[in-house]
Amino acid sequence: MTILVTGAAGFIGMHVADRLLAQGHAVVGIDNMNDYYPVSLKRDRIARLQAAHDRLFTFHELDFADLDALHAALADQVIEAIVHLGAQAGVRYSLINPHAYVRSNLAGHVNMLELARERRVRHLVYASSSSVYGGNDTLPFRVEDRADHPVSLYAATKRADELMSETYAHLFRIPMTGLRFFTVYGPWGRPDMAMWIFTAKILAGEPIPVFNHGRMQRDFTYIDDIVSGIIGCLDHPPADDGAPKAGGSRAPHRLYNIGNNRPEELMHLIAVLEDALGRKAQIDFQPMQPGDVHATYADISAICHDIGFAPTTGIESGVPRFVQWYRDYHDTQ
Ligand code: NAD
Repeated sequence: MTILVTGAAGFIGMHVADRLLAQGHAVVGIDNMNDYYPVSLKRDRIARLQAAHDRLFTFHELDFADLDALHAALADQVIEAIVHLGAQAGVRYSLINPHAYVRSNLAGHVNMLELARERRVRHLVYASSSSVYGGNDTLPFRVEDRADHPVSLYAATKRADELMSETYAHLFRIPMTGLRFFTVYGPWGRPDMAMWIFTAKILAGEPIPVFNHGRMQRDFTYIDDIVSGIIGCLDHPPADDGAPKAGGSRAPHRLYNIGNNRPEELMHLIAVLEDALGRKAQIDFQPMQPGDVHATYADISAICHDIGFAPTTGIESGVPRFVQWYRDYHDTQ
């Protein structure tokens, strides 16, 4: 197949493109290389994809919220499926720069829905987020739980994406799957996320900021498991048979949680990081941040049942792999 991957220079997009290319698919990557975190890391990810998969990989640097640019770049391009991972990510930044979220996550998402409709793609798989559960305090989070009280603009845009996608899928009969990711980490990860920030600060001998005085739990999900889940879903589109789909969605739209099904205390993550780095962390306890939630914990029974998803990597084995990559990457800079 020829598959459009948006956010191909991003953390998850690069890994998904890499796996699809290794499977022999042609991948058309899109990314606007925004400077939310260092652009050099995004350029390195694209360079890696180009070096490994020269022939099957095409890349367009463009903003998918710009419909004319999108049409111009893809005019003569066959697109059979879309994996839409490009977005303005980050909960805290959405309190500072709301318009970036409206542009990429709302206007940009509608452009992807339109593209799916114009091209009659076999399947559109897109990224949602565990943040849609807001401050729900019943754990684990189940896809059929209420998700109508987001506590950040980021979460609100992701929930809006789900609703718009369900409407489009149902109106225009295009199979779509929304995936609520839970704190993804691993090699080529994101410099704005805790795992990277903690690693950098522990190595520099600087104190690490730990919010809510350390009383936080996250369902950390290793990148290889996420990629398996995304591609497993892509390969099994929801049937357009009128029966309700996962998350109570109208066919042919469905929603899945995709996490590790194992919430970890933040202080345990720090202990695992200390072991992997061979250094002690200095901890700077701080209050809860606006927009943050205390705990995330994915009920993944729906995706396990439908797709055979089975995460295999806990933080004890995943964190050392991230740390090894982090050291290698910085040694070669
Ligand atoms: P990322 O920031 O590394 O990747 C997103 C990419 O999208 C970036 O490279 C960015 O430049 C690109 N992008 C943003 N707006 C764009 C636009 N208008 N046009 C073209 N490109 C644009 O983030 P990631 O961690 O790889 O996340 C991928 C997806 O998963 C996002 O939708 C994110 O919201 C979602 N998600 C991620 C996590 C996680 O833990 N990493 C958790 C929940 C949800």
